[in-house]
Amino acid sequence: MPQPFDPADFDAARTRNAVLETIAQAAQAAGRDPAEVTLTAVSKQQPPARVAAILAAGQKVFGENRVQEAAQRWRDKPADVELRLIGPLQTNKTREAVRLFDVIETLDRPRLARAMAEEISVAGSAPRLLVQVNTGEEVQKSGVVPADTDAFIAACRMDFGLTIDGLMCIPPLGEPPGPHFALLAKIARRNGLAELSMGMSADFPLAIRFGATAVRVGEALFGPRPSHD
Ligand SMILES: *Cc1c(COP(=O)(O)O)cnc(C)c1O
Repeated sequence: MPQPFDPADFDAARTRNAVLETIAQAAQAAGRDPAEVTLTAVSKQQPPARVAAILAAGQKVFGENRVQEAAQRWRDKPADVELRLIGPLQTNKTREAVRLFDVIETLDRPRLARAMAEEISVAGSAPRLLVQVNTGEEVQKSGVVPADTDAFIAACRMDFGLTIDGLMCIPPLGEPPGPHFALLAKIARRNGLAELSMGMSADFPLAIRFGATAVRVGEALFGPRPSHD
């Protein structure tokens, strides 16, 4: 049951340890090293006190889905915090995103790849890049459709000189996510990509079984967001 947030009731260290323990168990059950799986704490829309508490508990990797919100929240980002963009990126925000984020997980179209290449050359440093795949081919969702993904990755590499580290997906709501995770892993394998960002609060143990190297966990870590999106 969602409750109004009371910082006194939020035991960040205990909640984080429970999520890390679930990650470790899922990895071990799959014959994988738990150290291969990064926990991305999805801090979007969360009250600053809750984010500060998770940070104080030792969490270093955070995910945000909006450039503007992330820029405000992380204005004084500690040097050892890794910030990941997990929401759609408008081309006109590429410059800010390249400077703010250590990882951009939502590269999904040639126009954005071109803008990214330009801003990376201006900035002189590059975030790690993941291509978002719209595995469910949902019209309202961003991401490259599976059939176009190999060609898009090749274009990122050859036409734009970008280094692609992996793939990300958000399976359709209300569908079993397993086949989507399997599809993402298969596309990654045939393109020689090591990083797989998949799995959220409801399904991250399953994603780990299918090879996730980063899981994006929001509400299971911070508690319910004030409003859903
Ligand atoms: C919000 C969000 C998450 C986290 O969702 P939870 O259900 O709170 O774990 C993960 N990935 C993306 C892309 C998101 O937008």
